[in-house]
Amino acid sequence: CGVFGIYAPGEDVAKLTYFGLYALQHRGQESAGIATFAGEQVHLHKDMGLVSHVFNESTLSKLPGNLAVGHTRYSTTGSSRKVNAQPAVVDTRLGSIALAHNGNLVNTGHLREELLKSKCNLVTTTDSEMIAFAIAEEINAGADWLEGCIRAFNRCQGAFSLVIGTPTGVMGVRDPNGIRPLVIGTLGENPVRYVLASETCGLDIIGADYLRDVEPGELVWITEDGLASFPWSQQPQKKLCIFEMIYFARPDSMMNDETLYSYRLRLGRRLAEESAVEADIVFGVPDSGVPAAIGFSQASGIPYAEGLIKNRYVGRTFIQPTQMMRESGIKMKLNPLKDVLYGKRVVIVDDSIVRGTTSRKLVKTLRDAGVVEVHMRISSPPVTHPCFYGIDTDTQDQLIAATKSVEEIAKQLEVDSLAYLSWKGMLEATREDTNSFCSACFTGDYPTSIPEALKGSKLI
Ligand code: 5GP
Ligand code: SF4
Ligand code: MG
Repeated sequence: CGVFGIYAPGEDVAKLTYFGLYALQHRGQESAGIATFAGEQVHLHKDMGLVSHVFNESTLSKLPGNLAVGHTRYSTTGSSRKVNAQPAVVDTRLGSIALAHNGNLVNTGHLREELLKSKCNLVTTTDSEMIAFAIAEEINAGADWLEGCIRAFNRCQGAFSLVIGTPTGVMGVRDPNGIRPLVIGTLGENPVRYVLASETCGLDIIGADYLRDVEPGELVWITEDGLASFPWSQQPQKKLCIFEMIYFARPDSMMNDETLYSYRLRLGRRLAEESAVEADIVFGVPDSGVPAAIGFSQASGIPYAEGLIKNRYVGRTFIQPTQMMRESGIKMKLNPLKDVLYGKRVVIVDDSIVRGTTSRKLVKTLRDAGVVEVHMRISSPPVTHPCFYGIDTDTQDQLIAATKSVEEIAKQLEVDSLAYLSWKGMLEATREDTNSFCSACFTGDYPTSIPEALKGSKLI
């Protein structure tokens, strides 16, 4: 999911949030929503669909206020229905809160029992709304905004980057592992306005300057007094999702002081060093495989050429919920350049193989276009474990590398050779402490405990 928040009295906060969400559209295409606060009064508009479909000038004009929070939803838990769209608005003793969540909690079973005991009315099925109810419960028991939120966060386990609107200010929060990203930006001077966004591309679009990340286990509270920081976790550690870096986040977003384009370029270079091959051209699977393919070309000296053209109006195939839809999605999406490919030995680079369905279809497309050798190179290691933290890599039995060796996968995809980047290569290319990332879908080494019942639902 994508989250956005802004505190900017005097500005059209709904419109700025709209554009922020527009830049974060890649993080979720299922539903979109904006909540604004004009004093105590909360205004909300949300619906299924893309940001540009859900909002227009008229709906935005009905969202007045000094502050706003927004959300684009990518469905991983809860069903695909309008009631699950966010922000989730919940009433408390001190006024309403509007909560936008990116990530997945892992202790929802326990949390739901607790909340039901205190007779909370769990209308929808999402973990995100449970966080909002937990906050309301703490506040209604007598806590103030900060205290109530912090108590609620300590009851949550898993991944949560949150943006929360209240009548007095906007909060930005990351879980103790900082699994999902969240950045702070500033807009203008005298007075300085603060903005929160999942990625820096959400700041760029409204002309905000990147200030810093919200830290793991940190809460920032933005009010008329400015920005205040409250570290709330006893054991914060950096465990940013490495999949954000290799695939999910936009290549023009900055993480660890560089664009993800630059990181992905290095992944491709490293991949060429680790698994060289003789070929005539190299190209990436658009769009996610392209930066690594350019890096592969640079390091190997094999010329880069476009081999596949993407229809940019078709969404990412993996957002589609069923296997059948996914399989029919691919033809609409990628078309081969037959005269470029005919008679060639090609290196095709992609960021990841998850189920292998996309890759298998692509190889067939290339053979049909007259390619004589297909060498597939993947700029991440084999995905062997499911994600419990908000990226839909499916249950373990759906993951091709969970049960098959690289050789067996190569056979199934009908490629002449297949190589993945090493786990070490992927982490060393970050130029950060290699311990500061979650890479559990490649190792099974999850940064939080996972309750047995949840494990059983996804692991073989
Ligand atoms: P596959 O060959 O596993 O069907 O698809 C791999 C390609 O689709 C890669 O280009 C990757 O960018 C994208 N992809 C497909 N499904 C998923 C998914 O569930 N999670 C992620 N992270 N990427 C996916
Ligand atoms: Fe990211 Fe994989 Fe960790 Fe999930 S398991 S948070 S996709 S690195
Ligand atoms: Mg892709």
